[in-house]
Amino acid sequence: MSRILLIHTGGTIGMTKTENGYQPDGAYFRKAVEHMDSLKAEGMPAWNFMETSPLLDSSRMSVAEWNLIGKTIADNYDLYDGFVILHGTDTMAYTASALSFMLKGLNKPVILTGSQIPLCETRSDGRDNLITSMMIAGAGKVKEVCIYFGGVLLRGNRSAKISADGMQAFASPNYPPLASAGIFIQYNEPAFLHSRSTKFSYRSFRDVPIGVIKIFPGIQFDLYESLITEKLKGIVIETFGSGNIPDDRGVLLPMLNKAKENGTVITVCSQCPQATVDMSTYEAGSLLKKAGAVSGRDMTTEAAVAKLYYLFSIYDDPHRIKFSMERDIRGELTQKDDI
Ligand code: ASP
Repeated sequence: MSRILLIHTGGTIGMTKTENGYQPDGAYFRKAVEHMDSLKAEGMPAWNFMETSPLLDSSRMSVAEWNLIGKTIADNYDLYDGFVILHGTDTMAYTASALSFMLKGLNKPVILTGSQIPLCETRSDGRDNLITSMMIAGAGKVKEVCIYFGGVLLRGNRSAKISADGMQAFASPNYPPLASAGIFIQYNEPAFLHSRSTKFSYRSFRDVPIGVIKIFPGIQFDLYESLITEKLKGIVIETFGSGNIPDDRGVLLPMLNKAKENGTVITVCSQCPQATVDMSTYEAGSLLKKAGAVSGRDMTTEAAVAKLYYLFSIYDDPHRIKFSMERDIRGELTQKDDI
């Protein structure tokens, strides 16, 4: 029988109502999980429960919490066959992306899940999300960081939260689901990640300064000038379509050149959930290319942010980081020569 470590980090699934709205309630949730008969039913894996402290609404998660979750998995890696992480939905895709980079050579399932409605409420989706995640982790077929939510298993670093009130809260528009859970759990094995490293290792992230700029019509680039300092290590620019930006008004190019001189890595992602950035498609994107920005290709902004943290935690040389940003290291992007 496989053994799973169930880690509660916070989020709606384990919250109860307070006068200020829903808040994590560790004591309630621990008891509720211990009394859930389905988790002890025949065919379910054996499991141990633990919680990180403090339990958080995931909007309050930061690099420190990612490091704590990653280290907890690393410390327990040899003791368990898989890990299920209960997490708030708001930043679940960021944490899943971060863990995918932190955990190199992963050869066991790490499944993040949570719920839109707390477990304490009658219509909660938490029960199925938790039970099915435990089954998937117990089966041990998929050996990567995933999100299971609302009947689908997705690659963590390809996922994004797409709904704040629907039960199918996540999607991975640029990558097919790894499994779907109807009457049967059907795996899409050709889509699984096969780790290139044989040895498992964990790398904590350095809390380096990183920025995200979302482009919009009428953007006044000069307002962002003060952001471009030597302190800033990386920026993700969320552009239109395949990597297009409005007229530079003579401001953006000098700004980008300054960023380049400072060694800031500029990564271009798209605001379209389903897209591949190619800055040479339109003249409106060529400026970014000229300024030395790297293409995030079909990476989510969540994955690009986590990847920047990861690469700045292992390298100092911006050229080395730029090189790796455009390459697939954990299944987070489709490399040009792979298309
Ligand atoms: N605010 C909550 C969180 O992300 C939302 C949720 O869990 O669905 O922690």
